Amino acid sequence: MTMAMPRVLFFNQTGLYGGAERSLYDLVTNYPGHCRVVLMQAGPLYDDLITAGVDTPVLGGGFQRATRRKWITLTIRLYSPIVVAIGLVRLSRGYDLIYANSMKAAVIAVLTKPFHRRKMVWHLRSLLIPEHFSPLARLVARWCGNWGADLVIANSDATARAYQSNGGKCLPVRAYNGFSIEKFRPEKRAELRAQLVVEHGLDPTHPIIGMIGRIGPWKGQALALLGLSMGTDWQLLVVGEALFESENFRQDFHESATRYTQTCNVFCLGHRDDIAEIMGGVDVVIHASTLPEPFGRVIVEAMLAGTPVIATNGGGVPEIVQNGVTGRLITPNSATALATAIEAALRETEQSRSMAVAARRYAEQHFALELTLPPVWQALRTMAAQSDGTENAPAVAAGAHESSIKG
Ligand code: UDP
Repeated sequence: MTMAMPRVLFFNQTGLYGGAERSLYDLVTNYPGHCRVVLMQAGPLYDDLITAGVDTPVLGGGFQRATRRKWITLTIRLYSPIVVAIGLVRLSRGYDLIYANSMKAAVIAVLTKPFHRRKMVWHLRSLLIPEHFSPLARLVARWCGNWGADLVIANSDATARAYQSNGGKCLPVRAYNGFSIEKFRPEKRAELRAQLVVEHGLDPTHPIIGMIGRIGPWKGQALALLGLSMGTDWQLLVVGEALFESENFRQDFHESATRYTQTCNVFCLGHRDDIAEIMGGVDVVIHASTLPEPFGRVIVEAMLAGTPVIATNGGGVPEIVQNGVTGRLITPNSATALATAIEAALRETEQSRSMAVAARRYAEQHFALELTLPPVWQALRTMAAQSDGTENAPAVAAGAHESSIKG
């Protein structure tokens, strides 16, 4: 007998694209059953989901909104979650479970559980460690997981371990992020490099180093600039935007980036959607997060592109890169270690090439969407089978859409 797929209401706090939202898009657009996505804020994710034909209501939470008058800001911030909570309860009618894709979403889904009475899945994409979260936030996370979530999914073993070390009682289901591997074309690397050179006026005879990812205090852009100054003819492409940071941080970053752009070979490209092409066109991709990374999508993307990768050792990263086999792992927070690894990657060309080939193979075998999505569906199906028989019987047969994974 085929087990049925539950009707899922995916719930996320933002409509902007961080790694969690890229993964959410893949989950939703490949879901082999009925689903809808509720966002607390519109943005490019909202636009893409609508284009993909996904029902995506936005509950105007406006958590980030700030006005000159503090009391108005405070009122908005207190009022918004209430509006979102009421909306969530209303929109969850007709769905079997709520799938929270972020911490804020999980908190709201848990607090409103007595009203929506739906099972709740929490896809944990953060490391619940003191370096990333305050004691209060970790307490709330512990409470959410232990008293609210019926299933916790973690995006790496490191994330699952940190969840348990934080007092989480269950062992989360580990589900790595998946990727559409056909977007990446290692055989076109020379062509992609030539395109990058023309597009940004680079010197083709000098190494091109790529740093791709959200710009943030712990994402390592400052460290990379320092590391870059230790090489003589390196050209660094910094790709990404400061999405979730304060206005002050954005301003500071853009000012220092402008200074570096004028004096060093640094090119800040801002947010880009053609990541597969950029990854494929650079000579080395660096990942330099100064704190442990829960997963690190950009590392897998570099591996799929067939580009030598250097990544910070910590969090979920060693689950992706095997040092000296599929890439080079470096000590966190060391500009010298970063510069030495870049220098080695450029000098030991044959070794770098064979590591990149092994990395592409490894990434294909472990991080293709076709491999990472089925365990998630299976976990949801199992939940549906254990359903307590509330008003909605799960409706769609599993397996109906599994043959057509979209990226
Ligand atoms: N990304 C993108 N355009 C950019 C910068 C980043 O599409 O300009 C994507 C990147 O390719 C990756 C994701 O954003 O898929 C970042 O995920 P990661 O896990 O590396 O970091 P997070 O944002 O989750 O901290």
